[in-house]
Amino acid sequence: MRKLDTKTIVVASHNAGKIREIEDLIGPLGFSAKSAAELKFAEPDETGTTFEENAAIKALASAKAAGMPALSDDSGIVIDALGGRPGVYTANWAETADGTRDFAMAMQKVETALQDAGATKPEQRTARFVSVLCLAWPDGHTEFFRGEVEGLVVWPPRGTQGFGYDPVFQPLGHERTFGEMSAEEKHGWRPGDPVALSHRARAFKIFVETCLEL
Ligand code: IMP
Repeated sequence: MRKLDTKTIVVASHNAGKIREIEDLIGPLGFSAKSAAELKFAEPDETGTTFEENAAIKALASAKAAGMPALSDDSGIVIDALGGRPGVYTANWAETADGTRDFAMAMQKVETALQDAGATKPEQRTARFVSVLCLAWPDGHTEFFRGEVEGLVVWPPRGTQGFGYDPVFQPLGHERTFGEMSAEEKHGWRPGDPVALSHRARAFKIFVETCLEL
């Protein structure tokens, strides 16, 4: 496992919601982070078929462009009644004809697919959010950290916080969706805490514990 020996890092993402969450998580550790969006790096095509492959594509592209380590996140929602879909294609389900993303439409698509599959009872609507973080160096070295959180897909959407599919995801053991939680509640973790809640914070905790010399 290679350690990260710099306090300057690129957040290899163009997704505003993710960038905010990663900066929230990394901020208290004293890092200065710039995103691939801010640096105007081109967004690479996510041609992989696994979260790990796509995370590596993004992190390596940014690390090579910046000449410094880069941290990416590839994530999605894996729904049991849909055979694991949308999975690595979670962002694609939100794509519109004009190339923008519409998450109200994407959540409706998920609900329609669940109804078509006959998944109307809560116990038929189990799902997990997955986040794979990839830390890449300009020389091509990569390290991966995976976090998952189990929950239920609820309908109708609830809450206006967070991003993406947060309003339809209720984590196990909680009464509220991620869309109804503040960022702090959704992460459920600060450096040193023994547990985390969100998939991204769970992956981030492993990154901190294994790659940082604090
Ligand atoms: P990608 O990793 O860029 O392929 O996109 C992953 C997609 O999964 C995002 O566009 C979001 O819609 C969704 N997603 C990932 N993490 C979260 C989360 O924490 N909340 C809500 N949606 C998420």
